[in-house]
Amino acid sequence: MSPVWRALAVALGMLSAFFAFYTAPQLCPKCGAGMEQGFVLDNTYGARIVSQWAAGAPLKSFWTGTKLPDEKLVPIGTYRCSSCGFLELYARQEFAAK
Ligand SMILES: [Zn+2]
Repeated sequence: MSPVWRALAVALGMLSAFFAFYTAPQLCPKCGAGMEQGFVLDNTYGARIVSQWAAGAPLKSFWTGTKLPDEKLVPIGTYRCSSCGFLELYARQEFAAK
């Protein structure tokens, strides 16, 4: 990777981290207590996965239960109020399991 591309990749990484920090909820909008990051778990056959956002209204499928759109699915990150339990959800790639 050339130094220019490496510098651009570093700058994009810093911009992404900056965006994630400043868009993450710090205080609960309902009661003002602190929010903690988590995720909504999907238990499937023999697997535990992070829930994902899909565009459009859900449509039934005879074979799979629900049809999926062609577009890419986006992992959902969830913030939970430590006092009242209010949940705030964000669909962003950074919330994928690492
Ligand atoms: Zn709260």
